[in-house]
Amino acid sequence: MAKQRFQNVRGMPDILPAEQALFQQCVTTFKRLAAEAGYGLIETPALEDKAVFVRAVGEGTDVVDKELYSLNDRSGNELALRPEGSAGVVRAYIQHGMSSWPQPVQLCYASAMFRYDRPQAGRNRQHHQVGVEMFGEASASADAHAITLASRFYKRIGLTQLSLQLNSIGDAVCRPKYKKLLAEYLTGHEQRLCATCRERLRKNPLRVLDCKEPGCQAVISAAPQILNHLCPACHAHFTGVVEYLDELGIAYELNPLLVRGLDYYSRTVFEFYGQREGAQASLGGGGRYDGLVELLGGPPTPAVGFGLGVERMVLELEAGGLTPPLPASVKVFVASLGEPARLSAFGLIQRLLDGGVGAAGAVDKNGIAAQLARANRLGVPYAVIIGQKEVLDQTVILRDMASGAQEMIPLGKVATELQKRFSIKAGGYDS
Ligand SMILES: [Zn+2]
Ligand SMILES: [Zn+2]
Repeated sequence: MAKQRFQNVRGMPDILPAEQALFQQCVTTFKRLAAEAGYGLIETPALEDKAVFVRAVGEGTDVVDKELYSLNDRSGNELALRPEGSAGVVRAYIQHGMSSWPQPVQLCYASAMFRYDRPQAGRNRQHHQVGVEMFGEASASADAHAITLASRFYKRIGLTQLSLQLNSIGDAVCRPKYKKLLAEYLTGHEQRLCATCRERLRKNPLRVLDCKEPGCQAVISAAPQILNHLCPACHAHFTGVVEYLDELGIAYELNPLLVRGLDYYSRTVFEFYGQREGAQASLGGGGRYDGLVELLGGPPTPAVGFGLGVERMVLELEAGGLTPPLPASVKVFVASLGEPARLSAFGLIQRLLDGGVGAAGAVDKNGIAAQLARANRLGVPYAVIIGQKEVLDQTVILRDMASGAQEMIPLGKVATELQKRFSIKAGGYDS
């Protein structure tokens, strides 16, 4: 019998060790910045009741109608794999009575998402997103808080050249009126719209604004813009967000065509675009969704959040030849030659870790040059080298990896010296 060779499911790639470095660096940095900004990590299951997504994202959207992975379990329950992060987090917020917690409730996640989409670079059927949700705060400052966190995160991993696009899509007061106005305008130009847009025009005219077809673009460019049709409350909210961003020196562009693919947004929507061409250049985004908690059966609760694609940010980093600065994990690599030196190195690594200085090494049986090459790949600022002679002398060589400068330091003092250089108090947490 011929051996069967299995393959991964199309669009659901393995992430191999070589690809993990950038991937994990992004995720780790995100979790750290979100924690620093007050967000607690939540992990919701990949499978939920299908109705959670149908209700939240909305029938008539591509995400629900065409891209949802749904299945019936053996008990006949209708389930679906999560296509985005917010619906499950909102379900958990309601289920665990978080509306009685001190508000705002701030949650963050780093999870796999699933969409039956045409696989292409950065658009896999299983992909990952990092995101936050803030519940219970209606003010424009909450929107600005979310936007600045996303912006700070992208800067921190090295993506400094992104464009942040901003729009308001109104609320239950003004959006229906605008939709009607837009539908009337589009109906007047229906013959010039593509087939998809003619269908969108009946289901959700806002989605026509997303279309990239040249014929539709010409129609869209003269369409009424929602920013000119906001009710006074939405207008004041949007002005507030813009003022915060101006105050914080965060650059943005107003994009009246930005409506995002999900139906539950209200008021602020934003999206980050990279430098690569094409639709997948959108790296991530978010907005306000004041109606979503109520829509899923909870009390009326204002909320704002975002989701950022991890694979896309990795592609963007690779395209720009960028390596994010090492998150404060491994700071010192300890290289050693021979068994007695390895033992000293092992002891030193433990002392460094106990003192809050990230350290690695000691397991290599390779020569010093190969170990230093690994230290280089890790991007550590310092390497400590312990050879046979050093063990006898009870000294180590401390190498500055950037300049290559080396100095001799007594073995008993090197941990304290490195702590001092990274200015970490003994036993302290490395920030
Ligand atoms: Zn179109
Ligand atoms: Zn409004």
